[in-house]
Amino acid sequence: MREVIIAGNWKMNSTPATAAALAAAIAAATQVAGVTRVICPPFVCLAAVADALAGTGVAVGAQNVHAETFGAFTGEVSAPMLAGLASWCICGHSERRRDQFEDDALIARKLLRCLEHGLRPILCVGEQLAEREAGRATDTVRGQLTATVAELRRHRADLPASLVVAYEPVWAIGTGRTARGVDAAEMAGVIRATLAEGGLFDDAEHVPVLYGGSVTSGAIDEFLAEPSIDGALVGGASLKVDQMAGIVARAGVTAAARAAA
Ligand code: PEP
Repeated sequence: MREVIIAGNWKMNSTPATAAALAAAIAAATQVAGVTRVICPPFVCLAAVADALAGTGVAVGAQNVHAETFGAFTGEVSAPMLAGLASWCICGHSERRRDQFEDDALIARKLLRCLEHGLRPILCVGEQLAEREAGRATDTVRGQLTATVAELRRHRADLPASLVVAYEPVWAIGTGRTARGVDAAEMAGVIRATLAEGGLFDDAEHVPVLYGGSVTSGAIDEFLAEPSIDGALVGGASLKVDQMAGIVARAGVTAAARAAA
């Protein structure tokens, strides 16, 4: 049985002065059995959020990590620096692929640092609108994963089962436009098949696959109705307590159904 995960990506929103109250309010409003909850605030808010979430059962995640562990990388944050602050980390978000030109090989090295330092990675993959319209969405995602796994294999013979993959079609992020549940489900199958082909997983069927892209409390049902989708990576709506309450409540229905099956 795969776990059900709702992760919030606050992106470049909140400050150390405001983050703790927001995190605490979300934790209080999302106490639902069986759902793994993660909040990923900006780096500078990690300490405040970690304090606010202590004892609540909500985990803290970083939004990024450097591919090296130390050295002359001005302004960067490494995996060992996150010890005590975060236990999860988003890797390869499309906004970083776009704005910081992160490629699959670099993202694979970030995954390695996460795994070495006890951070559970959420690897983001997804196609551009033009790629979907050209019928190349699955090729794009398969290509991202194949390149990532090829780089990982240069360094490791296996991967811990902790990896989580988020399928985030780029055209759905922050646009208010969501993918269709059936398309996300198809992509989840492609993701697990590609991981299995890469030979790093004994059983890629156990890898949780999340959907991300304009998820709201109203839109989440379409995705969690798909057995191959295990939760969501939520951006804009993760800054709203009522939205997170609704999203996690719906995730709890899926978690309960899976536990009963
Ligand atoms: C994201 O940032 O990963 C995301 C999915 O954003 P949004 O929910 O705002 O589309």
